[in-house]
Amino acid sequence: MKKLSVKTKLTGWLTLLMLLLASLLLAFLLSISRKVAFETAISQLSQVVQSNLDQIDASGGRFELGSDFSFYRNGVSTLIYSQKEALLAGQIPVFFAGEEAFRDRIIRKVPAEKGQYLVVDVWIPMERENGIWVRGILEAPENTLLVRNLFLVAFIALPFFIALVALGSYLIVKRAFRPLDHITETAVAINEAKDLFRRIHLSSGSDEFCRLADTFDELFGRLERSFEAEKQFAADASHELRTPVSIIKGACEYAEKYDETAEERQETISMIHRQALKMSDLISKLLSMTRLEQGTESAHMEALDFGELLHSVCEAQGYDRDRLLLTIPEQIIVMADSVLLSQLVRNLIENAFKYGKSEGHVWVSLEKSEKEILLRVRDDGIGIPAEEQEKIWKRFYQVDVSHSKEGGAGLGLALVQQIARLHGGYMTLESEPDSGSTFALHLPVAEKTEESIKKN
Ligand code: ADP
Repeated sequence: MKKLSVKTKLTGWLTLLMLLLASLLLAFLLSISRKVAFETAISQLSQVVQSNLDQIDASGGRFELGSDFSFYRNGVSTLIYSQKEALLAGQIPVFFAGEEAFRDRIIRKVPAEKGQYLVVDVWIPMERENGIWVRGILEAPENTLLVRNLFLVAFIALPFFIALVALGSYLIVKRAFRPLDHITETAVAINEAKDLFRRIHLSSGSDEFCRLADTFDELFGRLERSFEAEKQFAADASHELRTPVSIIKGACEYAEKYDETAEERQETISMIHRQALKMSDLISKLLSMTRLEQGTESAHMEALDFGELLHSVCEAQGYDRDRLLLTIPEQIIVMADSVLLSQLVRNLIENAFKYGKSEGHVWVSLEKSEKEILLRVRDDGIGIPAEEQEKIWKRFYQVDVSHSKEGGAGLGLALVQQIARLHGGYMTLESEPDSGSTFALHLPVAEKTEESIKKN
């Protein structure tokens, strides 16, 4: 059996619920109207009997009826019986059996040949232990008639009501589900056309569907970024690896044919080694960038001492300490990913050495102001012409390829910038050809970082 859609199910449930409510309402109305009808009859009987009692004068050993006495009024028959229960005046209703024993001032239901009667008796004492009974009789409200009338109304009105409820529910449900249809249509279109640029863009709001659409849009955004990063990685890797691979291939072929001495072979091996290092550096940087772009490698932010991190990077890398001059105050705390921040620092210092003078210096300083934490890496090297300063942050951009023969691929600064942004910071550059360059990392001051590191 074909599964019912949620819309149909909801419409069905709503209609069923309304049907149940209508039936309950009907039952409630029925019981209320029965009660009301019965109480109205009792009060009618009491009133008529009481007004007749007011018209009876039973003083002086006999009784006399006033002019307003009425044997039959408002459906109530009033009868007068002797002490010995013989009918003295009035007419017994046709279907009332008349065998009911007398009980003073008790209103009761008495079954008769046809239907039921409400009966009340009042004893009026007279002289010498004599007296008369006044009996009021009223036909009890017919239950079955009431029920029949109500069911008749229900029978005619209910189908209309249910049809109306079903239609109304369907229209409401359909309208409420319209955004979901839109979301599904867009998701299908994106899937079929592999068009990751499309978005749902549901009108702004805060209901469940808007939140769902926003989540989907975010998801599509991430998918798109991830997809683009992967595409970029494949394109960059295949393009950039081609050169070192063909150099290695050519070197091997040449060596096989022409390298005769051990020195020649050693030279070829060194060259292959350099190219392999270049490839390895390229692949690891490309991978880091791709993962950061894709969001698969998320940053593990923690409060850390930036000075300590700088010292440990310099120690681990074994830089020439005569040429590297550090100005690092104690306890400058940043919220950062230690691995990524170390990578950024390494790239800047290595560039400073690489593009510095052969016996030149590299100055690394750290300072903290109210607004930011500033890391400066300065060299006295070749510098960068003003027109190139914007471009060097792009992937694979190299000002002068001949200087990058030591293994650079033009990815370092792109990665540096990406890491800076990931930490909520940015990079700046001041440089003059032949005088040197100063690369600066600006990081925001995290308010709670110092407190949290002190606790640790
Ligand atoms: P790579 O160093 O691998 O070529 P980078 O992305 O680190 O790639 O740098 C891009 C380019 O910017 C370099 O090729 C170089 O031309 C220039 N550059 C980077 N750092 C410096 C520096 N300290 N001094 C002069 N030029 C630099």
